[in-house]
Amino acid sequence: MFEENLFPYLEKTDPEIMEAFRGELKRQQEQLELIASENFASKAVLAALSNPMQNKYAEGYPRKRYYRGCKYVDMAEDLARDRAKELFGAEYANVQPHSGTQANITAYMSLIEPGDKIMGLSLSHGGHLSHGHPVNFSGMFYKVVPYEVDPDTRVLNYDTIEKQARKEKPKLFVAGASAYPRFWDWERLRDICDQVGAFLMVDIAHIAGLVAAGVHPSPMPYADIVTSTTHKTLRGPRGGLILCPEKYASVVDKFNFPGTQGGPFMHVIAAKAVCFQEAKSAEFTSYQKQVVLNAAKLASVMMEKGFDVVSGGTDNHLFLLDLSGKGLTGKEAAKALHKAGITVNKNTVPFDKQSPFVTSGIRVGTPALTTRGMKEDAMEEMGELMVRVLENLEEESVIAEVREKSAALAARYPLYE
Ligand code: PLP
Repeated sequence: MFEENLFPYLEKTDPEIMEAFRGELKRQQEQLELIASENFASKAVLAALSNPMQNKYAEGYPRKRYYRGCKYVDMAEDLARDRAKELFGAEYANVQPHSGTQANITAYMSLIEPGDKIMGLSLSHGGHLSHGHPVNFSGMFYKVVPYEVDPDTRVLNYDTIEKQARKEKPKLFVAGASAYPRFWDWERLRDICDQVGAFLMVDIAHIAGLVAAGVHPSPMPYADIVTSTTHKTLRGPRGGLILCPEKYASVVDKFNFPGTQGGPFMHVIAAKAVCFQEAKSAEFTSYQKQVVLNAAKLASVMMEKGFDVVSGGTDNHLFLLDLSGKGLTGKEAAKALHKAGITVNKNTVPFDKQSPFVTSGIRVGTPALTTRGMKEDAMEEMGELMVRVLENLEEESVIAEVREKSAALAARYPLYE
């Protein structure tokens, strides 16, 4: 059965879903994907996701399960845990969180009590909803003091953060972001946390692949708990991950299950193991280096054409374009780019005057296009296509012309063929 292609069964049982799958595959193949949080998992990861482990209940952890018949899922979870530990240089790994947000819930519960004070990067300055936004559990259950980037440089100012932390004395400092293009100084944050008696939690959801490949400094030596997703730069299945020193292992395990989750998704854990194995390869390291080179190249093309790249560039896989100086909103820019075959997301920029639904910016990331094999020359073309659209938002003929060129560029870098 493993060697068999399962899709004919799906075609027979549910042709409507099969049609949706075909449409989605075609969309991914034909569009130029610049959403910074997305990537294309390998065929091996996709294959691992479709396996009989999805049928298995395995509450608990390897060799300490509440169900019988866990010999093989234990093998998969052991492989995933061991590979994650080796990849990130962590003493302990919990690979069960269903998502990045679930990993963060477990991390908060492991370190602090409801009602305690946390400091997290403000959403509009690049942070994530789960770092203390009022509409999220993190903003509902904890007292949140957001920190921001510097108004002049639009980069984190660690002196200002230190002052704020000394005044606020949070129990937990949350580092990491969804839309911050610069390196983090983990050592400095550890020092700040030590001064005020705070735990340091680092969410590397976006930069996990870069960290695994040594392209971004690792927070492992400094953080109490590191959380992540496995599906962004790390290029694995959708899911979460927690890394920590041995001293937090039992509390993290306890708050993940039974604290906040039920049965683990064993097929996803198997796919995480495959992803971690792939991430140990030399090919993965060169891929991550290329992701960063591509982001730097695309950002520089945009700056040369007179666009405002927040903080003047990028150190990682993404950058933010502030379009307010061009009189454009992120919403209309993302819509026009999409019509032209280029997918980005609208994004607030620091000190944005527009609402989160409209925004003044777009977030641009290179992990997905780099997976297709694109290098700096393709980024040059990519930048020119984006500029054509952004300077001619209302010109249907320009949009149509770019759409053709986008399709041709995508076709030169085939996906899943
Ligand atoms: N943390 C950060 C920094 C993120 O960017 C994201 C997702 O975008 C998450 C956590 C949440 O991950 P998930 O969507 O898997 O809950």
